[in-house]
Amino acid sequence: MRYAEVSVNSPAAQRRTFSYTVPPGLSIGAGQAVWVPFGNKTLQGIVIELTDYPAVEETREIIGTIDPHPLLSPYQVALALWLSDHYLSPLFDAIAPMLPPGFERRTITLISPTDLEYDATSLTQYQRQVLRIARRGPVTLSTMERALGKKKVQTTVAQLVRSGLITRSYELEKVRVRPKLEVYLNLSVDTDEARQEAARLHSRGASRQAALLEFLAQQQKPVSISQARRNAGSNKAVINALEKKGLVKIQRVEVRQQPFVHQGITPTQPLHLTPAQESAFRTVQSSLREKDSAYPKVFLLHGVTGSGKTEIYLQALAETIKLGKRGVVLVPEISLTPQTIERFAARFPNRVAVLHSQLSLREQFDEWQSIRDGEFDVVIGPRSAIFSPQPDLGLIVIDEEHEWTYKQQEQSPRYHARDVAIKLAELTGAVVILGSATPDVETYYHAQQGDYHLLRLRERVVAGGGPSLPRTEVVDLREELKRGNRSIFSTALARAIETVLAKREQAILFLNRRGAATSVQCRDCGYVLTCRRCEIPLSYHLAEDTLLCHQCNQRSPVPQTCPHCGSRRIRYLGIGTQKLEQEVRQAFPGARILRWDSDVTRGKNSHQVILDRFRRHEADILIGTQMVAKGLDLPRVTLVGVISADTSLNLPDFRGGERTFQLLSQVAGRAGRSALGGRVIIQTYAPEHYAIQAAAGHDYDTFYSEELAYRKQLHNPPFSRLASLIYTHTNDVACQKAAERMKQRITEERDRRGIADLSLIGPAPAFIHRRRGRYRWQLVLRSSDPSAMLSQIPIPQGWTVDIDPVGL
Ligand code: ADP
Ligand code: ZN
Ligand code: ZN
Repeated sequence: MRYAEVSVNSPAAQRRTFSYTVPPGLSIGAGQAVWVPFGNKTLQGIVIELTDYPAVEETREIIGTIDPHPLLSPYQVALALWLSDHYLSPLFDAIAPMLPPGFERRTITLISPTDLEYDATSLTQYQRQVLRIARRGPVTLSTMERALGKKKVQTTVAQLVRSGLITRSYELEKVRVRPKLEVYLNLSVDTDEARQEAARLHSRGASRQAALLEFLAQQQKPVSISQARRNAGSNKAVINALEKKGLVKIQRVEVRQQPFVHQGITPTQPLHLTPAQESAFRTVQSSLREKDSAYPKVFLLHGVTGSGKTEIYLQALAETIKLGKRGVVLVPEISLTPQTIERFAARFPNRVAVLHSQLSLREQFDEWQSIRDGEFDVVIGPRSAIFSPQPDLGLIVIDEEHEWTYKQQEQSPRYHARDVAIKLAELTGAVVILGSATPDVETYYHAQQGDYHLLRLRERVVAGGGPSLPRTEVVDLREELKRGNRSIFSTALARAIETVLAKREQAILFLNRRGAATSVQCRDCGYVLTCRRCEIPLSYHLAEDTLLCHQCNQRSPVPQTCPHCGSRRIRYLGIGTQKLEQEVRQAFPGARILRWDSDVTRGKNSHQVILDRFRRHEADILIGTQMVAKGLDLPRVTLVGVISADTSLNLPDFRGGERTFQLLSQVAGRAGRSALGGRVIIQTYAPEHYAIQAAAGHDYDTFYSEELAYRKQLHNPPFSRLASLIYTHTNDVACQKAAERMKQRITEERDRRGIADLSLIGPAPAFIHRRRGRYRWQLVLRSSDPSAMLSQIPIPQGWTVDIDPVGL
């Protein structure tokens, strides 16, 4: 007898597998998708391993396979187990991102009446209602719930099942994506025979059948149904008649959609590398060629923006392909990096798959199949692309490795794509390149420790030999105020903008925010208009003249008077992109302005449209939020103005300094990308802060050593690891109590096991204390191995655990 350990698609399964008997004659392997009985349901499962002995005495049989081939490779099975262990996520959650899109299906509960006689007078009103609906034939439980209300139905159904008047049965939700099939027609006889048959049919008046046979006899290849309709005027009846006579065969062929068109892209050749690039590339190359080594082979490619990192990725990929392997490239966000995508597509024409969130489910499914069949040398995508079924993995590139988008925060598994990539490399022997101008402090620390191999590109590759990095000035806004300048533009920034306009160059104004004047505050009593449900300041949106909560999306009108003291002097504070646009229009009436933020980029290609317009110099000034900081290459931009550097400094998070440094460095990197040179002006209320100073001086090393000293002093990562535990509840006090109980539970466990290096912060209200009407309390655990510790403790419902969180 063979047994299988199966990860079952049920919330009840949590992090464990279940033992099933493999029915004799059923061929099954690890990574295969199967149907299994679970309680009184039939659920999806993935076989994790085959064993000779079950983990429990009583086992049930696997019902059957869902797909004839394993859906997960052995590496992916191992990766899923690691994900579940490391991030404490349910095992099936860890598997889910690796499954073909649209694979997961829910079970539907059906209610049917039985033949049992009953006395209607002994039933309650609800029981009679439920029976009446059930008697219309099997109905789904959700239909019944829609008709009568959820709570009532659940209790009533349970009562009626107990008294034997109805039964429950289960089936699976309809398949959402099936391979799209095209129907083709083929002759079953040779062409001569077909022609004779056609003549015979014609003489008998079956002219349409004759016409189709004639048409098929003329073709070299099978003909699609639609072609047959168009050219021979045939219909279903005609085709069926010919099939019955054994003259025509009907074939169903799977067609796949190819969403990413390489149209209009001119293929490029590898560039001749600069000496710095050459030396970095050689190191990677020899690692790629190396067969066996102490894994994983991780490189940190640290080079300022424009230092030629992308060219190294491209050549490393070419080398990988030469060695018969394939690559995966992760980018922070597909829609913000069109230029990067283009460069990959141009270097490997028709060999690149781009995974895009805007693809339809059908397109995603087709792409998944094609990738698994080895049709692409390179897969590019956001963090989830690390789970794509790319075979023969040889190289993983993570561009802008410091970006927070690589961490999945909203749902389980709460993974970091960088850590997953390194684990995957360990499992497969692939090489990893992490690239950044401002590496994550933790990544850099690993490189310093020798865990990763550090490669540096110190200079920009500038065509024509212009100045290498833009000049950066820090302007103290307190001084401006003292001198009576209440405008949002310091004197220096205003002059610089004028110069750019006069020289017909371009400027970018960066604002780390969204919406117009953000919070609204009363001048008399200081009251700030706040979302009643989420307790965060509401943002004022100029275009709609409304207040918006960015947490729960609730809209409300702007009050005429202060809700607290009744004063009419309620005014707008802060500044957003729309307000900034207004101010720029006023201050520089001749300037042509473009605004780029998430409010104007809802459409499918809107990023590209805005970018193209700016590149064509249809505007002089681009105003934007974080988006303008991404990988743009705009040679005409000679000025970048940071309206206020302080927003991210004031975050209640120990990574505020790092965040600010990264943002400022990136934005500054947008200026002076050509021989025209460039200038950066940073406005701030905290000019002496090391993150701002270091960003202005393009000085990663100083930033790193200051930041590291500060991390060490507070015992923060990389000197420890964190886990964030958040409990949510509709009642604030109950929420706090639960958080305190958890703290006690962890403390006891720590003392019992004598773990010295574990500390707990909180419980405290989370940064966002209230969201969608629920309170949130947070507990932060700091230790050398939070996963190991927490895996020993039962985590009740209502808790969310985030291992190695990127934001607190
Ligand atoms: P990064 O990825 O570090 O920001 P890129 O690879 O985008 O840098 O390079 C910046 C610019 O320099 C690009 O326009 C690129 O085409 C060009 N470039 C890169 N390497 C070379 C090279 N070896 N010779 C000439 N131009 C290069
Ligand atoms: Zn007031
Ligand atoms: Zn809200």
